[in-house]
Amino acid sequence: MTDKSSNETDDSDEDWMKYASAGFGQTDYSLWDDEQVVESTVEDSEEWQDESPDQLSTHTEEISRAPSPAGHKHLVRIGTCDHCLGRLGGKKRFEQSIEESGIEIRAAVNERDSHLFGARVQEPLCPFCENLFEESELLAEIIYDNIAPYELSRLQLGARIPKDQVQEEEEMRKRFGAGGSDALKSGLVQSIAQHLNKKLENITLVNDKPQILALIDVLTLTVELDIRAHYLYGRYLKLERGIPQTRWPCRACKGRGCQRCEQSGLQYKKSVQDLIGNPLLELFQAE
Ligand SMILES: [Zn+2]
Ligand SMILES: [Zn+2]
Repeated sequence: MTDKSSNETDDSDEDWMKYASAGFGQTDYSLWDDEQVVESTVEDSEEWQDESPDQLSTHTEEISRAPSPAGHKHLVRIGTCDHCLGRLGGKKRFEQSIEESGIEIRAAVNERDSHLFGARVQEPLCPFCENLFEESELLAEIIYDNIAPYELSRLQLGARIPKDQVQEEEEMRKRFGAGGSDALKSGLVQSIAQHLNKKLENITLVNDKPQILALIDVLTLTVELDIRAHYLYGRYLKLERGIPQTRWPCRACKGRGCQRCEQSGLQYKKSVQDLIGNPLLELFQAE
């Protein structure tokens, strides 16, 4: 960038980058780099092994996984909620929602084993999601209310779920759930997104480059908004001397304000930074 012998126009394109971090938006923070916001990878592509029914009559064998009937029965018996039954059951058809698929699986199980009708009453806490999915509509509403004051077109959702809960669910999912089932986090985010999509207008849910990232904390059922920086690109002509690029604190008082600077704290009354930046700060209600 300092090589002035090279093409001037090329240089000036890059030049503004130098000032991009001159005091407004510092961008080197990375609050969410270690967050896996949405896990969309299929973690378990292992095919479901068909097991013959007579294997299930003994008590020593492994409980077979969904989508086998015995696997479904086991999921119902341990108190799995409709959402997780649909998510892990491996039976969802294209036109169905996850929950509808779960309801259908439960109905089929109950038809074969009527004593399992009250399974959710006996085991009211879903062992996979701890009834988190029941909160997804509420969480969608909380997000909706939180983003209301902002103008945006791209929103990304993320969820913060305690590590041990994620691990426990994963273990159980791989043991009892159908191969390729959605993980807890991505399943929950999807479910919230479904509710949210019904309410949103002109806002798209995205998986990258959001303007706002809404991070859901499932323990407290609260939402934290990470509002991403705006970058403005522009050019200006400075037609007189004596206007420094950046804000320049008064040498005598170091910005506190003194007689010499007429209490402004500035060595020069004007700077390009203030002339351009201050109106924008106001416009964006930024700090
Ligand atoms: Zn559940
Ligand atoms: Zn001063």
